[in-house]
Amino acid sequence: MAKKIAVVGAGSAGVLAAYQVYKEFGDKVEITVFERQPHAGGRAWDVNFAGTRIEVGGTLLHSSGRHTTELMALTGGKEGTSGLSIDGKEENYAFWTKDGFVIDTKTTLVSMAMGIVGRVGVSSALKVTKLAKGMEEKWSGVYALEDEGKTFATPDELIETLGLREGTLVSLGEYLTEQKVNKRMQEEVVEAIVHNMYNQGLELNAFAGLVGLAGAGLAGGYLYSIEGGNWTLFENTLKAIKADYRPNTQVVSIEAKGEEGKKKFTIKTVVGTNDTFDAVVLASPLALADIEISIDGVPADFPKHPYQEVQTTLVVGTPNLDYFTNKKPNRLPSTVFTADSAGAPFKSIGVTGYSPEYDCRIYKIFSADHVMTDGELAEIFTEVKDKMTFVWRGAYPVLSPGIEHLPFELSPGLFYACAFETTAGAIEVEAVAGANTGRLVNAYLKTV
Ligand SMILES: Cc1cc2nc3c(=O)[nH]c(=O)nc-3n(C[C@H](O)[C@H](O)[C@H](O)COP(=O)(O)OP(=O)(O)OC[C@H]3O[C@@H](n4cnc5c(N)ncnc54)[C@H](O)[C@@H]3O)c2cc1C
Repeated sequence: MAKKIAVVGAGSAGVLAAYQVYKEFGDKVEITVFERQPHAGGRAWDVNFAGTRIEVGGTLLHSSGRHTTELMALTGGKEGTSGLSIDGKEENYAFWTKDGFVIDTKTTLVSMAMGIVGRVGVSSALKVTKLAKGMEEKWSGVYALEDEGKTFATPDELIETLGLREGTLVSLGEYLTEQKVNKRMQEEVVEAIVHNMYNQGLELNAFAGLVGLAGAGLAGGYLYSIEGGNWTLFENTLKAIKADYRPNTQVVSIEAKGEEGKKKFTIKTVVGTNDTFDAVVLASPLALADIEISIDGVPADFPKHPYQEVQTTLVVGTPNLDYFTNKKPNRLPSTVFTADSAGAPFKSIGVTGYSPEYDCRIYKIFSADHVMTDGELAEIFTEVKDKMTFVWRGAYPVLSPGIEHLPFELSPGLFYACAFETTAGAIEVEAVAGANTGRLVNAYLKTV
């Protein structure tokens, strides 16, 4: 009889785990994927707003990501715009501090580098670019290890093998200070970028900080989104591998029973199903999964690392340039990274789309757990034609240095594809973690 595995969660980590098992066993293993939402993609998701489609979660993919590229080849997915270039007008990045837009550059790497150098000096600007590039090169070493079939039991083993563990143990601020990066670069550029990405600033672990900087394009390469929505990559992969995919099916409990090495896992769902599997991949953060897990009748109390809420506010409107600076630019830069010194109620504001309905740009505001009030929006925009708020209950984990990470196998046969996210998370990073988990499942299935 074919072996049966269950994957709980159809985000990047879960789909890559399922795909890895499919690549090894084809239809010799039955793969069931349970997903609480009506769609795959998880935190890669979009909404229809003001006559267009807007990514509200994981938006930008980096050209160096091998797993996302592989899934595109599998599913016929195509690179689309990054969501930044909207109406044919030149796009630009700006860094906003208490002194106004101290850096305002085009979106090319060269222009960005020149703008940053002009404000913070050559040494600190080059240093940070070099650190982000160095991290990216070491991280990309994971693909050669994957080709050799290497598996990692824990996030620490993975990160240590790549020579990047040191960065997970210190804060970004400490690390940059050690590397003689000046305060201006740290506070006006680095913090402004990373607190927009992870809700945390220089207190973030240094590895996650460098992942964020590379994700903003500082390590080279280019950024894109998937045409038709990033989530389609995951939905179409599940179709391509002919998984028994069950959207709208929240898992409520996982019960493991039986002898070690021969355990059977019973999964109960809100729709009343009750199925048994040879192995299970939990591919949602434990803190967000709302699942009761028991092993031989004893509740398993795995630590639930806290995740942070993020408010995403979409606005069709005209920005009030007076709000940002008295040295008025012609228009609001397309992406504004805000330093803490700007004293803004949000982390970033940027153009994210164009509304054909209103013939007007759409802005996306990230404001961590702060709810943007109508009064604040009335100050930031001279006119608000339409607005929508999307709340992520848990957008990112709290990424402090020195976290004790859970292993990729919580107990024999019960795997955890999101274990790596407590070091740093991004769509491709979770894909790497999911693929590693899939290879661990493959090895386990050969023993049971
Ligand atoms: C606002 C925001 C912006 C971001 N921007 C970027 C970006 O630009 N680029 C980038 O690379 N990354 C970005 N990220 C990060 C990226 O989206 C995540 O790291 C990645 O998508 C996480 O993938 P995952 O598979 O680990 O988890 P998730 O995507 O969260 O997948 C978990 C899945 O499990 C499902 N689930 C949970 N509980 C159950 C249950 N009980 N039963 C069944 N199903 C369940 C969930 O519905 C979900 O689909 C961003 C994230 C956010 C929130």
